[in-house]
Amino acid sequence: MKAPICEVCLKTEDILCPADEKKLQDGVISELDVKISRMLYKLLGDADVEFKKAVEAGDLVVIMVGEGNVPLVIGKGGKNIKLLMRELGKRVRVIEGLEIKGTDEIKKLATDLLYPASVFGVNVVYAPSGQYYKVLVIRRDQQKLPARHETLEDILSKIVGLDVKISFI
Ligand SMILES: [Zn+2]
Repeated sequence: MKAPICEVCLKTEDILCPADEKKLQDGVISELDVKISRMLYKLLGDADVEFKKAVEAGDLVVIMVGEGNVPLVIGKGGKNIKLLMRELGKRVRVIEGLEIKGTDEIKKLATDLLYPASVFGVNVVYAPSGQYYKVLVIRRDQQKLPARHETLEDILSKIVGLDVKISFI
């Protein structure tokens, strides 16, 4: 398994090697990334899977993995997810992580994250307070959002690194 911490750190419990400790101190990785890396390693071992990053907001943890890795990480009948949810005490969603370059990637990300609600599009908004993204969701899908819309906005903003708002049309 490929993770943001090294193989030695995946196998240990409490301490990090100096290199990974520095990444944590510098904010390149978070405590959550370390925790999820180790939990996934216990579940998946040496499987050909990449864990990229995790973000949390409210009662939701979103785990970002490599292309095509989602089914393996979720596990048969969702068994890995169920274990993660029990250990974390939060809801868990697994999506493909991608490098955000613009609205195309944000649309793909929002489509995965907000499923089964449909994403109509993503707009860039230039406001006096700065640039932000507006994810357009069909109003009749409002009840299908997988979490509170503020929680989802928080998660999207953390992944994108700029404010993201959800707007119903
Ligand atoms: Zn390490």
